[in-house]
Amino acid sequence: MAKRKFSQLDLIKEYFTQNPKRDIEHPEVVDWVVKEWKERTGEVFRDPDRAIRSLAQKGFLQKIKKGVYRYDPDFVVHRELEDFTPEQKEIIMKRDGYKCVICGKGREDGVELQVDHIKPKDFGGKATIENGQTLCAQHNFRKKNYGQTETGKKMFIRLYELAQKSKDKELISFCEEVLGVYVKHGINSHIKWSKKTGLSMPIEKIKKTPLRDENGKLQFPDVDK
Ligand SMILES: [Zn+2]
Repeated sequence: MAKRKFSQLDLIKEYFTQNPKRDIEHPEVVDWVVKEWKERTGEVFRDPDRAIRSLAQKGFLQKIKKGVYRYDPDFVVHRELEDFTPEQKEIIMKRDGYKCVICGKGREDGVELQVDHIKPKDFGGKATIENGQTLCAQHNFRKKNYGQTETGKKMFIRLYELAQKSKDKELISFCEEVLGVYVKHGINSHIKWSKKTGLSMPIEKIKKTPLRDENGKLQFPDVDK
C-alpha cells in the first residue's frame, strides 16, 4: 500500500483553505473530513474536533466562537507579525521590574519569566509595549488555558462563597455586583453562578480557607481546583 502523503491535520487545512474567510461550524468540516479520510485512507478519522482546535491553537485558524472557526490567510501572516521582538520583550520586562505582574515572583525566585499579550493575538491584540505584560510561566500557562475572564469569574465565585460563609455583607454585595456584570454581558456563561445557589466549591475547602488573615487582610482562595 502506498505510504500516506498527508496527515489528518493537512486534510482539515485543505478544507479551510478551500473555504477562506468564511466562518465555518464544526459539523460542516467534520462531516467532510471524516468522509474524505475514509475514502482516501480507508481509516476512521478520530476526534476531528480536537484536530480543529489544535489548528486554532497553532494560529492557523481563528476561533470565532465556540465551534466556529475561520481561515484567513491575511490573519495567519498578520499573527506572526504580532509576536514581540526580543527588544520589546526586554523593555516590557524592565518596565515590570522583571517580575510576574500577578504573583510578583522573579528569576531570583526560580521562575521563568515570559512576555504575554494582554489582549490576545487571537482577538487582534498587537505587539505593542502597552499590550505586553510580564508573567511567570505558571501564570502565563494559566491565563492561556483558562482565559483571563474565566479565571476572574472563578475567583469571584469562590470569594463570594467565602463571603457568604463568614457573612461578610460588604464583600457579598461587592461579589454579587461583579458577578452580575458577567451575567449581564453573558461572559463565560458556561461557568454557572447565581445569587441563590452560588456554591461551586466543596464546603470542607471553604471551611479550611479563612476569609481574612490575622491582619484583617482579604485572602483570595487559590483559583486551582
Ligand atoms: Zn506569576
